[in-house]
Amino acid sequence: MGKSIVVLNAGSSSIKFEVFDTSAEAALTRRFEGLIEGIGTAPRFVAKDPQGQVIHETSWATGQPGTNHAAALEHLVAWLDPQLDEAGLLGVGHRVVHGGLAYSEALVIDEAILNDLERFVPLAPLHQPHNLAGIRAAAAFLRGVPQVACFDTAFHRRRPPIADRFAIPDELHSEGVQRYGFHGLSYEYVAGALAEVAPEIAGGRVVVAHLGNGASMCAIRDGRAVDSTMGFTALDGLPMGTRCGAIDPGVLLYLMQEHGMDRAAIEALLYKRSGLLGISGVSNDMRELQASAEPRAALAIDYFVYRIGRELGALAATMGGLDGLIFTAGIGENAAEIRARVCRDAAWLGVELDEAANRERGPRISTAVSRTSAWVIPTDEELQIARHTLALLS
Ligand code: ADP
Repeated sequence: MGKSIVVLNAGSSSIKFEVFDTSAEAALTRRFEGLIEGIGTAPRFVAKDPQGQVIHETSWATGQPGTNHAAALEHLVAWLDPQLDEAGLLGVGHRVVHGGLAYSEALVIDEAILNDLERFVPLAPLHQPHNLAGIRAAAAFLRGVPQVACFDTAFHRRRPPIADRFAIPDELHSEGVQRYGFHGLSYEYVAGALAEVAPEIAGGRVVVAHLGNGASMCAIRDGRAVDSTMGFTALDGLPMGTRCGAIDPGVLLYLMQEHGMDRAAIEALLYKRSGLLGISGVSNDMRELQASAEPRAALAIDYFVYRIGRELGALAATMGGLDGLIFTAGIGENAAEIRARVCRDAAWLGVELDEAANRERGPRISTAVSRTSAWVIPTDEELQIARHTLALLS
């Protein structure tokens, strides 16, 4: 065994982790994965082997001081330490949602960069503060171990500048009020996987639909980003579990004027009470919506599928056509019915669904004669973070 890389994805009340061994020449090998959840309320730690078998599980008292990200990290490090051989840790790779204009590549972070990244907290209030709390905690417990930030915005930074624009005065654009795009680590992984899974479209025009609790779509040509549905924040584009997706900014003016809503109230509405949950009134979870007899649950699914189709047409237009459509993330990888509906609606773009292959998750889910092919490619953002970390530190 060689040195290990820990990958951390810190959210508001949970930290997901994965541990990779770097000794294999060609590939990183997964050793452990797990989760600390209930941070701040009832923390629970679960570690699994690469086959998903639970190998360690513990919970600790609620409401005690220290049930925060730092305490959670302390727990993880205490468990992990005896599992590593003397080669120890090469570094820790962190998912950071927003890198703004300045950070277009993964990098080793220091205190000054960490402080600078605080600037983007207002642009990603649901994720960025917790991502940074995870880095601070890891840096405190693993002194001397390099910490690497990998940005969800980075993959989009080299696309044609016109895709970054809003039609607003230039001084605001220069200040950074631009379209960024997110889920970049997922898109980068999928774009890389195409060469192996679907080489016939790897150099072509593809749209990747990352459909999870957060959802967006990305146009990619010859492996490089062209445009995406998300903009300045991770609110834009497709409707999501609890986020609204594209909305006329005039609605916000109306809410301020007629409902007296302030920034905090609008933020809570758009980030937490909208999307699939807002329309259905039932749940933000696709499985629960599919199982529900409530007509508004069906409407939420209809709207989700409708907006995917609309964005697919728009993204295909940015590339002058479409060679491949790829589904990934929780809904994209698992919800065959949603994929089937999106593919049927995309018949005009040359997609011909293979129903049986779709039920079996592909990877190719279009017929052999389909002009535009469709695929299921499971994403692996953690592996992508580990690759960046290895590349920077070895
Ligand atoms: P996150 O953005 O939090 O990483 P995921 O990528 O895990 O989210 O996706 C979560 C979504 O995937 C939920 O809406 C969940 O219902 C949906 N999902 C997972 N498995 C299935 C399934 N078998 N059928 C339909 N939806 C599924």
